[in-house]
Amino acid sequence: MTRIGIVGAGAAAAAAAYALEQRDDESASDGISVTVLEKSGGLCGRAATRRRADVTYDYGANYVKSNDERVVDLLTEALETDGLVDVTDPVWTFDSGGEIAEGRDADDHKWTYETGLTQIAKRLFDRTDATIHRNTRVQTIHRGSSAGTWRLEDDAGDRWGPFDALLLNPPAPQTADLLRSAEWDGDVRERLADAVEAVPYRTIWTGVFHYPFELDLPYYALVNTDKAHEIGWIGREECKPGHVPDGESLLVVQANHEWSVDRYDDDPDATLEALAELAADLLGDGRLLEPDWTDHHGWRYALPEDGIALEPVRAAEDAGLYCLGDWVAGEGRLHAALRNGLETGERLAENVSN
Ligand SMILES: Cc1cc2nc3c(=O)[nH]c(=O)nc-3n(C[C@H](O)[C@H](O)[C@H](O)COP(=O)(O)OP(=O)(O)OC[C@H]3O[C@@H](n4cnc5c(N)ncnc54)[C@H](O)[C@@H]3O)c2cc1C
Repeated sequence: MTRIGIVGAGAAAAAAAYALEQRDDESASDGISVTVLEKSGGLCGRAATRRRADVTYDYGANYVKSNDERVVDLLTEALETDGLVDVTDPVWTFDSGGEIAEGRDADDHKWTYETGLTQIAKRLFDRTDATIHRNTRVQTIHRGSSAGTWRLEDDAGDRWGPFDALLLNPPAPQTADLLRSAEWDGDVRERLADAVEAVPYRTIWTGVFHYPFELDLPYYALVNTDKAHEIGWIGREECKPGHVPDGESLLVVQANHEWSVDRYDDDPDATLEALAELAADLLGDGRLLEPDWTDHHGWRYALPEDGIALEPVRAAEDAGLYCLGDWVAGEGRLHAALRNGLETGERLAENVSN
């Protein structure tokens, strides 16, 4: 039995666990066991969904694109498709002066689920025998000297393992912290930690605004194309089937990097007020200043702006340590994270069987 430990339960980790399970079913080996440790109470990481009363909203990733064939097959054939919905209204653009224009909607499909994007990780993990421990933040990685196995310690002091292989799914800065503090001697660790730490990130502060009335607009979302407006993106969750009851609206407003960093630690109520003003101004609708409820989330490590150098990542795999996620794929997108997870799981399964 090969014991595999996974830190983080994001989309990439779920896809890797799924790929491992598929290969395990096909192989004649002794099998694998997968243990996942996730710091939060939910699955799917930055593809995050919340519910309030009858309203469902994706407050991290907005949707998954259909431009990767393997991911399309995964979502439309391998996994159950009940509740998989397409956002058919277009994405329009705006510039730093607030000029709105009919944009090019480059995405064939913009998929989510009636019950939100977190379904992706839930459905993938449901296809596995992985044991998932939520609310378990990994603090330290230990590398056993003789047997070459891995152990983990969480922030409550509990120990996990031994594992024959270890998968690290947290965003690069959090993975870098784990590698820096790891009890693992060797040049490979240093080179990997340096490469992981070098991945640059964008921060996004997200405000969520609910209104007890409908908005009559011809688009699902607006994206700022010159990246010089305080708002980077406004999405309308009511355009996602099943998310918002008729007669209501819910805006997900993502501030740009500089604005988000400047206000990251400010009083959230003041930040929400400022963001509502910007949104009302952009959409030219004073009613948007008065939502009947709000929510917010600061994504410190929202989007990797570049990928990692792959040589140290592959070198670490020889020692049984695998990094995976959008930052390894080199694109801060859900489909890229899923694809990277599938490929990482398959590579590990291949290495295990050799
Ligand atoms: C605001 C926002 C908007 C976005 N919009 C889109 C979009 O519209 N379309 C799109 O395709 N993509 C979008 N993205 C990007 C998309 O969400 C990511 O590319 C994708 O979700 C990354 O998945 P992942 O598995 O690589 O990592 P993550 O989702 O970050 O998963 C990593 C997991 O590791 C856990 N973790 C971290 N540290 C520890 C620890 N020490 N111990 C245990 N667990 C730990 C985290 O809690 C998390 O669950 C957006 C992201 C954000 C933040």
